[in-house]
Amino acid sequence: MSDDPDVDLEARLEETAAFQPPEQFVEQANVSDPDIYEEFEANWPACWEGAADLLDWDEPYDQVLDDSNPPFFEWFTGGQLNASYNALDRHLDERGDEAAIEWIGEPTDEANRTYTYAELHREVNEFAAGLRDLGVEADDVVTLYMPMVPELPIAMLACARIGAPHSVVFAGFSADALATRMNAADSEYLITCDGYYRRGDALEHKAKADDGLAGVEHDVETVVVDRLGDAYDHPTGEHDHAYADLVAANEGTTVEPVSRDAEDMLFLMYTSGTTGEPKGVKHTTGGYLSWVTWTSQAVLDIEPEDTYWCSADIGWITGHSYIVYGPLSLGTTSVMYEGTPDFPEKDRLWEIVDAYDCTQLYTAPTAIRAFMKWGSEYPAAHDLSSLRLLGTVGEPINPRAWKWYYKHIGDEDCPVVDTWWQTETGGMMVTTLPGVGEMKPGSAGPPLPGLDVRIVDVNGDPVEEGRAGYLTVNRPWPGMLRTLYDNDERFVSEYWSEYSDTDSDDPDDWVYFPEDGAKIDEDGYITVLGRVDDVLNVSGHRLGTMEIESAIVGVPGVAEAAVVGGHHDVKGEAVYAYVITEDGYDPDEPLRENIIDTVEDAIGPIARPEAVVFTPELPKTRSGKIMRRLLEDIANGEALGDTSTLRNPDIVDDIAASVGDD
Ligand code: ATP
Ligand code: MG
Repeated sequence: MSDDPDVDLEARLEETAAFQPPEQFVEQANVSDPDIYEEFEANWPACWEGAADLLDWDEPYDQVLDDSNPPFFEWFTGGQLNASYNALDRHLDERGDEAAIEWIGEPTDEANRTYTYAELHREVNEFAAGLRDLGVEADDVVTLYMPMVPELPIAMLACARIGAPHSVVFAGFSADALATRMNAADSEYLITCDGYYRRGDALEHKAKADDGLAGVEHDVETVVVDRLGDAYDHPTGEHDHAYADLVAANEGTTVEPVSRDAEDMLFLMYTSGTTGEPKGVKHTTGGYLSWVTWTSQAVLDIEPEDTYWCSADIGWITGHSYIVYGPLSLGTTSVMYEGTPDFPEKDRLWEIVDAYDCTQLYTAPTAIRAFMKWGSEYPAAHDLSSLRLLGTVGEPINPRAWKWYYKHIGDEDCPVVDTWWQTETGGMMVTTLPGVGEMKPGSAGPPLPGLDVRIVDVNGDPVEEGRAGYLTVNRPWPGMLRTLYDNDERFVSEYWSEYSDTDSDDPDDWVYFPEDGAKIDEDGYITVLGRVDDVLNVSGHRLGTMEIESAIVGVPGVAEAAVVGGHHDVKGEAVYAYVITEDGYDPDEPLRENIIDTVEDAIGPIARPEAVVFTPELPKTRSGKIMRRLLEDIANGEALGDTSTLRNPDIVDDIAASVGDD
């Protein structure tokens, strides 16, 4: 024992492999009965009626699951509903004057905007009327190319109101990416904005949108939101319409929400494109909305009275499901922040949690590792005691980052839910229920009740506990994607060919394959190891990049690590480690040796890194995922591939230069 209580605490946390949900949390949790797993199992698929019951239906459904044409599963067939009605209208009586969205702009000298449910309802109606004025009809795909401004969720809900599916393209994506997606979806309408703020600078956005439109094969009516005011005057073309004009022309207009079939498309979302060609994932109205609403309630523990904050971008599926549709369907207050966590200072998020008394925070491991790197003094300077639950999504979280989050943000009082899911799954799939299961840092947890998730070998047989295998989902679920837009064939080949009997009409013969590797422990807890293609082959041994990364990030002084395979004449592949140090630590020789020794100890000499490259940053996509493909190119000394979806393209050259120094 040392004299420093903080050191003891760190040591105690370090040794703890499992944490019980805090008692005061369990007492108030939306779900706290462990029997839920058995009940759902005994009652499948009718167990999902409860999720559908969280919504208001215009027409009740006839059938929970129609599995007559696998893998084209359909949910809640015969039912009709409208997503904007569920997110807005039905809350007006009781919560009309409560905040639906608390929007915080990046500039600190600018007024934040609160939209009550009544105000949000009003503007959604006015803009829905404006969209109709432009000619938008049910089933027309409307593309939204916008940063984190309130008009983005308003536009989504306006589209949903009139039955027009939206397709949101990340504002950070290139003009080319916009054009590809608009052409693929044959989208004749675009909603964008003049620009936005990033780390204090006003960035132009409309010019980029116009560049993209130059590559679109058909005419497009474009709506432009004025975010920057006088800071940027964009040129106005003949097909451009000011958002403010459309809304003003429809002041006070109400638009009857269009009843949609449960299986009608709610939106299209192109996956982030970390791997290959973008895929137009189709989500429908009844199943998707039920899924995100139920998981928001059961996993994020959302109550109407909460001030819930998901810090993701709405241009990513997490923002669709867990900033907009799930939280608003539950009538809660959803926080939306425009900027980056380090502007103007590295405590911006904690200042917001403090000022708004946020009750939940849902963020990504990459952000948590950045907070760790910056140091615990930033959260310590604020009162975070309003927080009741913490969540992560997007990547595996290593135990050290998990524990840092648990301790320095949650004060050991908040459960942490590590949620595994994908654009394709619509919502969460593998995670603990925070009021039920114990938490094991580094492991997402068991599949949610009613799901059949297995870890299998190449033949589809369950692997032994603790051994790496492939994650599969062996039964359909309401939030699942229905197809890839206009490409049923690719839908089947991409997700259903690996483990299914594709000639069979029996739904039990169809297995969904998300292309992630994972392992499972004796309690059925699943640790996701990362993408299947993130596996190295060193002298015939298969090594998961994530396991090596996790060992490296466990070394004091290391904030973040990315491991890739570089070509090696003898071994086939060799381990290349790119490492970011924590603030206050020098990237020196002793640290390098410590990293190499730690990997050898944790995994074995076979995993010994060939090179450890210290770098100030890693190439990442907008959703915070490391672009390992680029790091591989660097390791192999090859020309760099496409960097158009990168958040920080310059960094690639810097890293390449430091590899050259080695
Ligand atoms: P693309 O499919 O175009 O390559 P993407 O897979 O990065 O893009 P998303 O759907 O946003 O797009 O990400 C889902 C993937 O993120 C999962 O398949 C998994 O690899 C990873 N992931 C998400 N959450 C977790 C988690 N909690 N633990 C481990 N991995 C996670
Ligand atoms: Mg994916």
